[in-house]
Parts: sequence; structure tokens; C-alpha cells
Amino acid sequence: MIPMNELIYDIPVAQLPVYRGQRLIVRSREPAMLPSLLAAEDPDAIVGIRLLSLEADSEALNAWAPGLPLELVMADPAAEFPLLYRHTNLLDNHPVRVMIPACPGFGKAVKVAVALDFAVRLEVGQPEPALIEELAEVVTFYLRQPTVAQPIEYFHSVLLGFYHDDPAPLWMLLDEDPHDLRYVSDAGVESLPGRLAGIAVDLAVETEQGEWIERVLAAGEDCRSCEFVRSCGGYFKWPNRDYDCAGVKRLFGQLQEAAAELRRDLSQTSLNNASPD
Ligand code: SF4
Repeated sequence: MIPMNELIYDIPVAQLPVYRGQRLIVRSREPAMLPSLLAAEDPDAIVGIRLLSLEADSEALNAWAPGLPLELVMADPAAEFPLLYRHTNLLDNHPVRVMIPACPGFGKAVKVAVALDFAVRLEVGQPEPALIEELAEVVTFYLRQPTVAQPIEYFHSVLLGFYHDDPAPLWMLLDEDPHDLRYVSDAGVESLPGRLAGIAVDLAVETEQGEWIERVLAAGEDCRSCEFVRSCGGYFKWPNRDYDCAGVKRLFGQLQEAAAELRRDLSQTSLNNASPD
């Protein structure tokens, strides 16, 4: 029976005995061992698998637990992108996403991942100006390249948020929502997820007026006056609260403009279709 609190714990496979019965994302560098290690677990409790090594042979997961979401975690995208070819068979039975850190040269890895039909989740951090140029190129690639059939996050969900005028903060879009997720280190220490990993849960709740840390960040002076605060949620003000957001705002602007363009195109198409011949 899955507990009512519905928290999801991102655990190393070695912590399985401690977290049994919770909703789990299980991470491992050795995919071959997972089917036997997880054989006795409630399949509804395992919500995803993270593979921490692209060098590893993932064949054992191809036909195992069909439909279970998998994430391939890259550490060095410029060097590791050729390894993605080894894992394409996973797509026969699983939704598979590649987590790519936005570091110099990451754009090539994004293009290869998407060409192979993998979804992408970018880990952007607080990008330096030089990296903003590469990110802007990838936004353009995502928006204009007709062969892109898979989402590149966070661009995809932010675009949809602008299009439907229903944005969600990046914490949520990038699976780093501190309300729903906990990260468990190899040593078994529990903390907030994603970029907030390492922050003890109690500390986060106790921050300032008992607010969650992402709310505190979004309430900062720069964010309160930022036109993108509903889509961002103060995400880029962590860990350095003095980070200059000019570059990331440019990326939000690209996506906002594309959503407006899409809406204009669709309303024009509707008008044309409604016109009498
Ligand atoms: S883009 Fe920067 S200033 Fe705007 S909401 Fe995000 S973190 Fe705050």
C-alpha cells in the first residue's frame, strides 16, 4: 500500500530496504541488477529509474517493466553523447528522457538525443553569459527545427505555459518541486531535490517566515518585478541570489514570442477556415 503523503523519494538502489513501501525513483549505475533487485517490489511504488552511467549496458531493462519511465543521466555531454546510441532499444518499451547538464558543448548532445527520439531535460543551473548563447541556439533549434518530435525541457513546458496562459514554475517543470520530492544521498541523508539537494527539509521549511525556500526566492526584489516570475518561480536565484537574470530572461522572451506567434498563426488559420469560398 502506497502511503498517503504521496512524497516521491529519489533513492540509490542500496537504500531500497529503508524506503520500501514509499513512492520511489530508483537510481543506479548498474542497470543489469535492477530487474532482480526490484522483482519483489510493488510495481506501482516505483515511479521511475535513473541510470547514472551511460557506459553501462542497459539491455536488461529493454523488456522489463514496460511503460516505466527511465532517465539517462549524462555527466559530460560533449564526451558522452555517442553513448546514447547504445540505449535506443529502451525506447521500444519505455518513455526515456536524457538529463543533460547545460555546460559548454551540450547542444550537440541535445541534437543527438532528440534525433534518436529521446526526450530531454536540461539541467541549467545559473548559466554564464557564454552559455546563454548556446542555450539560445538550442531554443531556436527546438522552436524551428521541424524534425524535433520530443520535448526539450524546460523549453517545451514553458512554451506551453505561455501559449495557454497557464504557466508553472520551473521547480515543477524540471521535477525539482520541494513539496513533492525528496532526494536521498548514497549515505542515506534526506534533503530537498534537484538544485536544492543538500538542503535539509526542516531548514527549507523554517527559512525566514516558515516559507518554503522556492517561495522565498520568488519573493526577492528582482523576482517580484520580473515579468517571467510565474514561469520561473525564482529558479535562477539559487544558489547565488545576486545572479544576473538578463540572459535567462532573454530565453524566456524567445519562448514567449514563439507562443504568441503560434497563437497568431492558429487564429489566422481559424479565420481562413471560417471564410466563405
Ligand atoms: S528570471 Fe530571474 S528575476 Fe525573473 S523570476 Fe526568474 S529568478 Fe527571478
